[in-house]
Amino acid sequence: MRPPTYTLGLVLCSSVLASCAGSPAGDSPVSLDQTVEAAEALPPRAGTQTAPRDPSRTWIVLLGTGTPGAEPDRFGPATAVVSGGTAYLIDAGPGVVRRAMAGALVSGLPALQPQNLRVVFFTHLHSDHTIGYPDLILSPWVLGRAVRLQAYGPPGLDAMTTALLEAYREDIRVRVEGPEQLRRDLVTVETHEIEPGLIYEDAVMRVEAFAVPHGTWDHAFGFKLTTADRTIVISGDTGPFDGLAEIAAGADVLIHEAYSAEGLRRREPETQLYHGTFHTSAVKVGEIAAQAGVGMVILHHQLHLVGGTAEQMVEQVRISFDGEVVYGRDLDVF
Ligand SMILES: [Zn+2]
Ligand SMILES: [Zn+2]
Repeated sequence: MRPPTYTLGLVLCSSVLASCAGSPAGDSPVSLDQTVEAAEALPPRAGTQTAPRDPSRTWIVLLGTGTPGAEPDRFGPATAVVSGGTAYLIDAGPGVVRRAMAGALVSGLPALQPQNLRVVFFTHLHSDHTIGYPDLILSPWVLGRAVRLQAYGPPGLDAMTTALLEAYREDIRVRVEGPEQLRRDLVTVETHEIEPGLIYEDAVMRVEAFAVPHGTWDHAFGFKLTTADRTIVISGDTGPFDGLAEIAAGADVLIHEAYSAEGLRRREPETQLYHGTFHTSAVKVGEIAAQAGVGMVILHHQLHLVGGTAEQMVEQVRISFDGEVVYGRDLDVF
């Protein structure tokens, strides 16, 4: 008996993706229209179909709020800040391109459609934040991205990019030299290895990087994104970092990772040591947010492996911070 997912794939190929018909592997060129059509043909997810957002504002779309844990409802870490018709991605966890397409449907922001994904900022090179990087390099290219991907991240990004392109050498060769005739130059990536400071600026967006302590990583960053209407600070993965209060002072939104302080206290010493130096408790997030005087806290990359519920994490932030606290979920739009 065929598994149900395979059956669904066949249904999509026969009724929606006409170009699949002659391609058993289903990897022939697929236009964006077909992709949109296929996505819209799926039953809507309850509570996620909303009215298009005002494109003149800056929006945050949580593409993935997860961790290395394989939680079905939480994809890998990836956040989009959308402003001026561009989606500025922070990290590329597993499933990032499909999640961006879902974000485009939920928010009505075309910048999140795959062929428009053209810039990404990596906080650090942990696998849960980068497994979607080859997806981001290759899938939008196949779907018609007309420019090279721009990628910003810590030292090591150049080597990772070169290795990924080498790993997919045969796929790239077939798509360039075969009937698809894709442009080889457009699959290459313009990489920028960063240091703390101003790392990116265009007509609508300014991105500053700051170093954060993430256990034994030599290079891990958080980002401050500034547009005409919003200042957004993303912690990245970080251990408790008092300096963040000054960096995030007066920001509209602080997006911070978190674990439950109470949950961790009940765990074995090794787990306490790891999480205590690589990550930040929700109690500490509240202290930082209060000191910084931010407008709103969004929790993401919530580490439930150590225990604790969503409600407990929010309550722990509220011990010190009396502003709005949101337990972020995939495809939330702010
Ligand atoms: Zn992580
Ligand atoms: Zn990490």
